[in-house]
Amino acid sequence: MVATQPLNTTMKTEKPYLVLAYYHFVDLENPHEEVALHKAFFANRDVTCRTYISEQGINGQMSAAKSDAIAYMEWMHARPLFKSVVFKRHESDENVFPRITVKYRKQLAALDAIVDPKNCGEHVSPEEWKEMLQKTDDQHVLLDIRNEYEWKIGRFEGAELPPCDTFREFRTYAEELKEKVDPEKTPVMMYCTGGIRCELFSAVLKENGFEKVYQLDGGIINYGLQKGNDHWLGKLFVFDDRLAVPLAESNQTVISSCHHCHKPNDTYYNCANMDCNTLFLCCPDCLPKYAGCCKEGCKDAERVRPYHQLTHKPFRKKHNYSIKDPKKD
Ligand SMILES: [Zn+2]
Ligand SMILES: [Zn+2]
Repeated sequence: MVATQPLNTTMKTEKPYLVLAYYHFVDLENPHEEVALHKAFFANRDVTCRTYISEQGINGQMSAAKSDAIAYMEWMHARPLFKSVVFKRHESDENVFPRITVKYRKQLAALDAIVDPKNCGEHVSPEEWKEMLQKTDDQHVLLDIRNEYEWKIGRFEGAELPPCDTFREFRTYAEELKEKVDPEKTPVMMYCTGGIRCELFSAVLKENGFEKVYQLDGGIINYGLQKGNDHWLGKLFVFDDRLAVPLAESNQTVISSCHHCHKPNDTYYNCANMDCNTLFLCCPDCLPKYAGCCKEGCKDAERVRPYHQLTHKPFRKKHNYSIKDPKKD
């Protein structure tokens, strides 16, 4: 098992792969054609990815051998539609996605609603974000708009954790929030993994009359790359084989606990019972005790993956993080 490289590192070792995260809103007349162009570009290259393209733009995550990653960024930037795409880049020992996935998707961020991303909040840089977190005089509201399994293992200090599994849940939350605080005066800071969910969720707050809506530019990934884990607790959940990435080398706090024995732990596994497959946190002592299962009952189920096959990597087939589909960004 290779230790996962923190986002913000002073380690001098050169890793052979780059992990890229990016999204870009741009009107694409023919998204299917762009899907085909991407597939052609990735063919015969050392690349794995999860890239979604729609009429609204592109939302991608990928890993690639360094030369291929650089070639991709240059190819994108050479085309007028994508010349301003911002790539967040992070080194890795290996490819971190199961395969090359490039797909047309109606909604870029897999949310069941169409909002106008042009009506989003104000983007703030990691530097400004950190300053805002340090200001104790303003009564800001800090919102983590990711799913429970994400914020469970890591989040900003003092973050509120509203229900965000669906867009509808967040709409309800926004309506309740405006009854509790003055939407004209209360600054609301929101963040997500890579920034794209904020583009949509911030618009909901603005529709509800919130005037000071701030979103962390480039999400936690960008913050981690620039500021490490200042004001951050735990690890960052990512949607690839690494599952959890530290933001920095120092102060790697563990804020979550083993599902079975409740000792501090932040390692996720999918239950070895294939018909359960629940994502759960498990310590190295409990993993063999429960044969890789989330509960006693799962050990005797009909289709259980043999325990010796369990590695630190998640199972890739039939991967369901929770009952609902995760919102990937
Ligand atoms: Zn345990
Ligand atoms: Zn189970």
